Amino acid sequence: MNSHFQPNQSYWHEVIDADSAPLFATLNDRLNVDVALVGGGYTSLMCALHLKNQQPNLSVAVLESHYIGFGSSGRNAGMVLHDLHDNRANAFGKDAVRFTYEQVAGVINTMKTLNQRYDFDCDLEKNGYLELALYPSHIEDLYEKQKLYDRYKQDFRIVDQQELQSEIHVPQFMGAGLYPHAAQLHPGKYILGLKKAALQEGVMIFEHTPVQALQQGERIRLKTSQGVIESDAVVLGLNAYHPGSKLAPMHNRVVSLFSFIALTESLGPRLKDVLGWQKRWGYSDMRYLHNYVRLVDEDRLLFGGRVRYRFGTTLTPAQEQQMYGQLTGEFFKRFPMLTGTKIEHQWCGSVAFNMTQTPTMGVTGKHQNIFYSLGYSGMGVSLASLGGQVLADLYLGHEDRWEGLIYLKDKHWPLPPEPFKFLGFTGKYWWMRWQDYLDSRSLKSVSQP
Ligand SMILES: Cc1cc2nc3c(=O)[nH]c(=O)nc-3n(C[C@H](O)[C@H](O)[C@H](O)COP(=O)(O)OP(=O)(O)OC[C@H]3O[C@@H](n4cnc5c(N)ncnc54)[C@H](O)[C@@H]3O)c2cc1C
Repeated sequence: MNSHFQPNQSYWHEVIDADSAPLFATLNDRLNVDVALVGGGYTSLMCALHLKNQQPNLSVAVLESHYIGFGSSGRNAGMVLHDLHDNRANAFGKDAVRFTYEQVAGVINTMKTLNQRYDFDCDLEKNGYLELALYPSHIEDLYEKQKLYDRYKQDFRIVDQQELQSEIHVPQFMGAGLYPHAAQLHPGKYILGLKKAALQEGVMIFEHTPVQALQQGERIRLKTSQGVIESDAVVLGLNAYHPGSKLAPMHNRVVSLFSFIALTESLGPRLKDVLGWQKRWGYSDMRYLHNYVRLVDEDRLLFGGRVRYRFGTTLTPAQEQQMYGQLTGEFFKRFPMLTGTKIEHQWCGSVAFNMTQTPTMGVTGKHQNIFYSLGYSGMGVSLASLGGQVLADLYLGHEDRWEGLIYLKDKHWPLPPEPFKFLGFTGKYWWMRWQDYLDSRSLKSVSQP
């Protein structure tokens, strides 16, 4: 491992740590603002920026317990994804599903606009994303998906085994569904770009400022480790940190799960010679407990997965090491042709899931002045970027812009307390493992003479 990296710091932090991003002051005083945002990730920064773009006179402060990008926004795999939530069509109608899909897919254009306007590059590559079939039953699911996308008149196409293997030379890959408009980016450069843009617009940023308590009122009072901030409205940009933060009223709406990443050394000419991968498609395989994979820089492979729920919110170092060991084992099982390759970086972070696996956004509290957006289910690069914009518009009274958005209608109820939450998720985890096992048997029945 590179000695520059702290334990469990992502590869992207090389950029976040750069001199150009000095740490900001801790809030150690009393402060009055119009809007206070808790959490220094994509949700809060996008919201802060969108607020200032529309109303430059608003006073807006972001409070982050560590430093901007410490959370999932500085740890993710950088895939900018979208999917059709047809499972919500019965509740909200197909037009709402289509509208929502188009808004999420459109986030890539917002990113491009921000890159230009604030002159930052986050290595945005719009090269498509695959849902990758490992078993015959996955291929059947892909054909169903093709029909669904055709019905909604949205772009999606099946890449058959021959085409897929001529692009990525892995014999186990049976085919894939291609989302041609998906993208990938450098999460560290993206969060740093948002931070600089927010500062340029006059957003106040306080790092190393954990919010310890939220007192509701017409003016909300946030108590931080060393100060107090009062505001007309609060935005909770905490996503997977909600359960750990214990900040009512949204702390019990999501389950927070760990996800792990391993990043190889530069593969050099081995990449092209052994694997091909010229189109640089990212993918996640179609198992319930899947891996997600993409190329980073010119020639490194990022391999993620091993989602885990822990009773409480932290992992011990021994548990972390066990997970990395298992992840690396899976990597070499999937890519045996890369045996001997060094894993140079590994890190983990939290993702937030709820029952419907669609986010929820809105405003709550006795005085309807606490704004929330959470439950991105591992798709938060685009969803948090969208959520921030939606919350800004809700605050400014422009909710009509988002009338069809199902995330605003889809209310989530509190999850049960421990140990029921743990038992519920553990049951679901074993159910998913069992389904993956059954799907893998379809492979055996095909390969038997
Ligand atoms: C390993 C991994 C891989 C992922 N890969 C992808 C991917 O490829 N594509 C995708 O779309 N999504 C991915 N995600 C999910 C995505 O990164 C998140 O959904 C998204 O970054 C959430 O952004 P956010 O701003 O809402 O929250 P975060 O970025 O998590 O920000 C919340 C912040 O709140 C701070 N905080 C916590 N408590 C307090 C407090 N009391 N006071 C002040 N601050 C506090 C935390 O330090 C944190 O920085 C991945 C996540 C992980 C962990």
